[in-house]
Amino acid sequence: MTGNVSGKVVVITGASSGSGEATARHLAALGAKVVIGARRLERIDALAGELNAAGHSVVAVQTDVRDRAQVAHLVNTAVEHFGRLDALLNNAGIMPMGPLEDIKVDEWDQVIDVNLKGLLYGVAAALPHMKAQKSGHILNVSSVWGHLVGHSAAVYCATKFGVRAISEGIRQELKAYNIRSTILSPGAMISELSDHITDDAIRTGNQKYVGEVGITAGDFASIAAFAIGQPDHVDINEILFRPTAQVG
Ligand code: NDP
Repeated sequence: MTGNVSGKVVVITGASSGSGEATARHLAALGAKVVIGARRLERIDALAGELNAAGHSVVAVQTDVRDRAQVAHLVNTAVEHFGRLDALLNNAGIMPMGPLEDIKVDEWDQVIDVNLKGLLYGVAAALPHMKAQKSGHILNVSSVWGHLVGHSAAVYCATKFGVRAISEGIRQELKAYNIRSTILSPGAMISELSDHITDDAIRTGNQKYVGEVGITAGDFASIAAFAIGQPDHVDINEILFRPTAQVG
């Protein structure tokens, strides 16, 4: 069901590739007004240009989610352009994998800054608008690895477990404002996520596996739209989904 998507104002972080880009395309095609953020401005500008030329309503805002002011600007842009904020998809994420004994503390810092603190900056920016409206929907991207710990992925998994904790807090604490909370937890999905893994063996192994079995970013987009498209009294709290071939 995606019938309740048209006209909604949706902010998406990490919309320059993968699931964020695919969801921006899908929601725009369903009639949503979409505000997209990512660091790669040329990508999101091109995406907004393409979708607007096709008659959709998309605004691109260069955003590094590690910067709270930039995330606030992204979210506020939705309200300035479209008058309200119906949904925030906290999608931006990185996955620098490696065994703990390699002690890549810089990468631990980065993944916590993007996947946890960046997501919280989105929550901080969205809640005042949603509370004032007495409505809103925050969708946070976790992972199958928010449920189990993959080898050489402990810190990434810690962030994705944390995303689920934050989402459950939102679900419990914002009832008075009709704010809904959805966790989207995909398994292996074809995207650029593995490309930035600095350990050569882990990167190539991951790319090979995901390339062979992964769901597409378009699959993610239709699942995100399903959650966003529910009637106001239905709060989809989590969707956990894997490629059919994925075991762990
Ligand atoms: P991609 O690498 O294709 O997309 C990641 C997006 O996050 C990009 O748009 C990137 O944009 C953005 N991003 C990264 N760092 C920042 C930053 N500091 N500020 C703003 N945006 C940032 O990967 P996916 O589409 O796969 O990832 C989307 C989400 O899905 C992530 O949260 C990931 O953890 C999650 N996920 C992915 C799975 C998979 O198998 N692919 C499985 C489970 C969960 P830019 O670089 O332009 O800033």
